[in-house]
Amino acid sequence: MNNLDRSNVTIVGGGPAGLGVALMLAQRGWTGITVLEKRQTANYYEPDKSFSYQIDGRGQKLTDLLSLTTKLADLSVLSTDFYFTLIQKSGKRQTRKLPIADPNRKPGYWLPRAALMELLYQEIERDWRSVIEILFNTECVEIQQHPEHLEVITQSSERGRLTFNPKLLIGCDGLNSIVRQTLTKIEDRSHSFEIQQFPSPSSGLKYKVLTLSPQFPLSERAGDLSQSTMAYGIRSIFKKRKKAISLGLLPFKNPEQPRTANIITYPDSEIWQLKTPAEVEQFLKQAFPQIPIDKIITPEEIARFTFSKGGTFPIPQYCSGLTQLYGKSHPDRTGTAVILLGDAAHCFPPDIGQGVNSALEDIYIFHNILAKTCDDLARSLPSYQDLRQPDIQALIRLVQISYPWQYNQDPLQKKIWGVNFLIRLGLSRLLPFMFSPHSIMLIQNHELSYSEILAKSDRTTQLLSILGGAIVLILITVFSV
Ligand SMILES: Cc1cc2nc3c(=O)[nH]c(=O)nc-3n(C[C@H](O)[C@H](O)[C@H](O)COP(=O)(O)OP(=O)(O)OC[C@H]3O[C@@H](n4cnc5c(N)ncnc54)[C@H](O)[C@@H]3O)c2cc1C
Repeated sequence: MNNLDRSNVTIVGGGPAGLGVALMLAQRGWTGITVLEKRQTANYYEPDKSFSYQIDGRGQKLTDLLSLTTKLADLSVLSTDFYFTLIQKSGKRQTRKLPIADPNRKPGYWLPRAALMELLYQEIERDWRSVIEILFNTECVEIQQHPEHLEVITQSSERGRLTFNPKLLIGCDGLNSIVRQTLTKIEDRSHSFEIQQFPSPSSGLKYKVLTLSPQFPLSERAGDLSQSTMAYGIRSIFKKRKKAISLGLLPFKNPEQPRTANIITYPDSEIWQLKTPAEVEQFLKQAFPQIPIDKIITPEEIARFTFSKGGTFPIPQYCSGLTQLYGKSHPDRTGTAVILLGDAAHCFPPDIGQGVNSALEDIYIFHNILAKTCDDLARSLPSYQDLRQPDIQALIRLVQISYPWQYNQDPLQKKIWGVNFLIRLGLSRLLPFMFSPHSIMLIQNHELSYSEILAKSDRTTQLLSILGGAIVLILITVFSV
């Protein structure tokens, strides 16, 4: 595993992190890179994973490095062009620019997950086929520990059982990572790879995604069509906690592409209890009388939606161990170096839009460290661990505090959040050397690390507590005189 031997990499998981790190390593001159992906294709359509991402300045560090940002821009709606139309239960519509986008920051690019995956995949197919092999339909089923190295075992319907003995094993296999689970077992005494979970008001919420026809009609009026580049929030007429729902639509560049509408609500909501497509259709028609449901959603889609399991927002979580070295450390070693990237190492609800961006930033930071150590894994991996771990810890805290009340779970908490946001915004404009804006705005500054953002946010919280305490003391003094 010396700096001349940049070969023999196995990446488990071909999501954004897996394909992104394969491209980064190929660009650095690594060869013999195999990506194992259990899905059938890179952009395999999974209706309940058909959400949109905003690739912000943080994610763009990697797309810049891979010279992909221009192509990304061609596929995306720019965040500075992000307009949101709220359709009230009465049918009244209000369109506004997203209020919390910071105009001084690098704009982000909104695109569907499938479009991002296709972009990364096509880049591999075009330029890197000789060094990157993607094995679709291939699931990593086991990782065995040998005295000097780890052995990866896969199962595939076409290829049967395959084994790999990589020098570099990268876990990009998401929330239920088999790579991380294996490290947890092997390193059970240190507990480094055990997942640590932290509560958040948005975790546990259930979501399903409805696929709508492209440029669907917004009313019975001829020509009153939705715009693909516009985000929509459509409120139901139901008010009760267990019945009220909203449809949330993010913008797409391609007007011919079917739209997707997220329904995110409590796990015990009435909509999740409905058993038949007829019940769901009736519920949607009653909930949204302001839009022509039967012209927007096909009966087949209603049936798919009814029987799909949907997903649940995960609890914010991370493992403190990110890397491990097995085998001898001299230059001609035959051991295995292991690194966890993306959701395999840190996973959380989508409140602050950092899931994919933090995964891409992991890869960018790994690249910088490889560049500094001439790709010597024995030095790179401990450096990555030391540099990235505090940031991941800060990121998880930021997820807990930044914007967890946005899903209308609790109108009072949402209002308190709004007041807090405005106080911080006002004070940071008035006294910028003392106060910082809300962390949801600071996150847009990709030049700040997550640790720096958390430190700024905590400092403002402390100052606000002191200010609040002083105001209370003054009021007590004034009224007691
Ligand atoms: C509803 C929802 C909305 C979201 N919205 C946003 C958003 O707006 N912005 C944002 O930044 N993030 C968002 N995220 C988070 C984002 O999707 C993830 O952070 C991102 O996908 C992480 O990428 P990854 O490559 O690490 O993991 P994944 O995307 O989970 O990819 C892991 C891959 O590994 C494969 N795999 C797993 N196990 C194996 C195995 N044993 N063998 C072979 N292959 C395997 C899987 O099939 C998958 O393709 C959202 C998540 C959810 C659930």
